Amino acid sequence: MSHSQALFQAAQTHIPGGVNSPVRAFKGVGGDPVFFESAKGAYLKDVDGKQYIDYVASWGPAILGHAHPEVIQTVQQQAEKGLSFGAPTELETTIADLVCDLIPSIDMVRMVSSGTEATMTAIRLARGYTGRDKIVKFEGCYHGHSDSLLVKAGSGALTLGVPSSPGVPACLAEETLTLTHNDSDEVRRVFSEIGDQIACIIVEPVAGNMNCIPPEDGFLQTLREVCDESGAVLIFDEVMCGFRVGLTGAQGRYGITPDLTTFGKVIGGGMPVGAFGGKREVMEHIAPLGPVYQAGTLSGNPIAMSAGLKTLQLISENGFFESLEVKTKQLVDGLQQAADEAGIPFTTNQVGGMFGFFFTEEKNIRRYAQVAKGDMERFKRFYHGMLDAGVYLAPSAFEAGFVSSAHTDADIQATIDAARKVMSTL
Ligand code: PMP
Repeated sequence: MSHSQALFQAAQTHIPGGVNSPVRAFKGVGGDPVFFESAKGAYLKDVDGKQYIDYVASWGPAILGHAHPEVIQTVQQQAEKGLSFGAPTELETTIADLVCDLIPSIDMVRMVSSGTEATMTAIRLARGYTGRDKIVKFEGCYHGHSDSLLVKAGSGALTLGVPSSPGVPACLAEETLTLTHNDSDEVRRVFSEIGDQIACIIVEPVAGNMNCIPPEDGFLQTLREVCDESGAVLIFDEVMCGFRVGLTGAQGRYGITPDLTTFGKVIGGGMPVGAFGGKREVMEHIAPLGPVYQAGTLSGNPIAMSAGLKTLQLISENGFFESLEVKTKQLVDGLQQAADEAGIPFTTNQVGGMFGFFFTEEKNIRRYAQVAKGDMERFKRFYHGMLDAGVYLAPSAFEAGFVSSAHTDADIQATIDAARKVMSTL
């Protein structure tokens, strides 16, 4: 038994499933999760001393690679001054100013400690601002695990939402409508019937929780239009794609202005940070300015803010995203070529430093139903082949992958070479 396997066994005694977040348990690919000891740049090292080229990036944050020297130094210097004061610091203003500078739709921003908190509060704010209860989300998008968002629809757009998890009250789930992602006609139909009851639409403008799915032409524009017509609040959940598909996020890339935006992952540079922000008129409803309540003991704590600020400063450097995008394209093109050579039906998606791949005959994957039709058994075999070869991919066919600025051309080439070998065995 490897050290990693022994640690996983031990972990299960006192930790449910041995993990502190379910997807880490490898349910999507089978086998035991790998326990890690350290990470540096593009590499992870496990407790048995094996090294992996990493494309999970701690599920997104590690856009500079792991343990970037400048981020680590900043955090160490800040830690010397105390871990948390529960009182304001100048750092919070500096990072808020920077976020508002970078993202034109954001006039005011509030820091929290996770993406879940950010989306949960954005929904509450939209409900408080509009005085309406219903919310619209899309199948295949994930927005954290707050009650209103852990809901999926039955068939038919107007079917009442049913909870995806025991513990979510049915009376709350009924207020959540789950529509088909990238289907503008369905959105228009629903809004023409009950638009005046809808508080908000929440969407991942580049979806990363059903693999990587870019928006269809006109989809985000439709969301903007129906919100303008009905008075609903448009929330872009950029927890994953923000500061990842470009410095101005998906909203900058596609030129659509949401009313509220949520962030997480990259904005904390590897520390627990989330944020929500947007139009002044809406944000002024949040406490203590307004009546919609939200708070957090560790919100905006100086260590997390220093890591996030340094990360945002480093990704703001000229050419950062151009180079990240080129590297990511090299990777997906190489994976495609490896699959083509092996005669395996395969296609990829890419937006900025985010990518996805699909074992399927179809091309141009834009719908959750297309993702679900992929060959999951082949994905699992590919996954484990790559893991053995020292490439760490997301352990699920429904997750996006991430390239960092620390990945070298040689890392990308080594990944493609490994894929070529593994594909030939599939
Ligand atoms: N929104 C999106 C788009 C996400 O990808 C995630 C996490 N993967 C969340 C919200 C929830 O963030 P957290 O896990 O930090 O609570």
